[in-house]
Amino acid sequence: MEKWRQQLAQLDAAGMRRILRILDGLQGPHALHAGREVLLLCSNNYLGLAGHPALIEAAREATVRYGAGTGGSRLISGSMPPHARLEERLAAFKGTGAALLFNSGYAANTGILQGLFGEDDVVFSDELNHASIIDGCRLCRARTVVYPHSDAVALEELMAAEAPRRRGRWLIVTDGVFSMDGDLAPLPALVRLKERYDTLLMVDDAHGTGVLGAGGRGTGEHLGCLAGIDLHMGTLGKALGCAGAYLAADRVIIDTLINRSRSFIFSTSLPPAVPASALAAVDLVESPEGVGLRQALAANRELFARRLQQGGVDLLGSVTQIVPVLTGEPGPTMAAAERLLAGGVLLQGIRPPTVPPGRCRLRATVMAVHRPEELAAAADLILQAMEAGA
Ligand code: PMP
Repeated sequence: MEKWRQQLAQLDAAGMRRILRILDGLQGPHALHAGREVLLLCSNNYLGLAGHPALIEAAREATVRYGAGTGGSRLISGSMPPHARLEERLAAFKGTGAALLFNSGYAANTGILQGLFGEDDVVFSDELNHASIIDGCRLCRARTVVYPHSDAVALEELMAAEAPRRRGRWLIVTDGVFSMDGDLAPLPALVRLKERYDTLLMVDDAHGTGVLGAGGRGTGEHLGCLAGIDLHMGTLGKALGCAGAYLAADRVIIDTLINRSRSFIFSTSLPPAVPASALAAVDLVESPEGVGLRQALAANRELFARRLQQGGVDLLGSVTQIVPVLTGEPGPTMAAAERLLAGGVLLQGIRPPTVPPGRCRLRATVMAVHRPEELAAAADLILQAMEAGA
């Protein structure tokens, strides 16, 4: 105990200790924190679907029909009609031969990489990829070559240097929308590289799915190269409002993962309510209501980002609903977050190892269901909180 106590004290002293905040009430644009209503500006529930009546009703119906839990992993007793239907639907949504559910995005990335790649293989990974991709690279024991953020020219140089000693399969893996910066991967350039070097391309579109592209199919659709992606990973807990994750890919890849992916094989499957409500979410994303929500989100994001930029904030290349405000070190970051909470805006300070040292930030996430005037007021409050800490 003493060692851990000391570690916690060190984290405290460095302004790096993490604590849990309990949010009450239905997930929406506002939340109840410590009995007080605050503007929720740090949720990935981008379209507001987590509290949508259609998702809640689908979850209720599935629970009544199939029960609260599945009692086993997918290969034992844990495959039910909602799981199978959602997999079919996601494959059609992304335009692939098949899809497979995982219990979380973390489980998906680690399980996909471990299940498909091994010692003879090489994974080229963007330096700002999500922690779950980094851990998947470690777990699969392929050689990992980290390339500078979104730099396709540097990536090609690394691939060319690697080519003479090639033995196995190659993969380029990238976030579609980068989770802490809100910028986009250069997917068309990556598709050209993967074709030139006989390589697979995996895109983690946790933050693009449902939000980007005319049909909400994600970053690939938005950048006009959806069909160039081999492994479409996405999560169900963000714009789709539920929980869990998936890979949409060729049938051979999915069958391989069913037989080899440890996070898929050795874990109790998602309760039936989850795939049932995710199906309702995909329906919504593809409906005129979904189109309207994407338009509202884009307009809200524009208003919020413009106001911050007018106040002199550098948004680090963000072009999406993830809007980072760089604060640098942990102390000023957490002080700014506290000032915002006192002003009625809940926004978390992001510190290492989630972001590199010295690159702490307030990560604001805009929702389709925020009101424009409350976003404008929140942007002003952020500017004041930054000034107060300067
Ligand atoms: N990939 C990215 C890019 C993410 O941002 C996240 C979640 N923060 C994950 C994967 C993990 O997803 P989950 O929360 O479902 O485990």
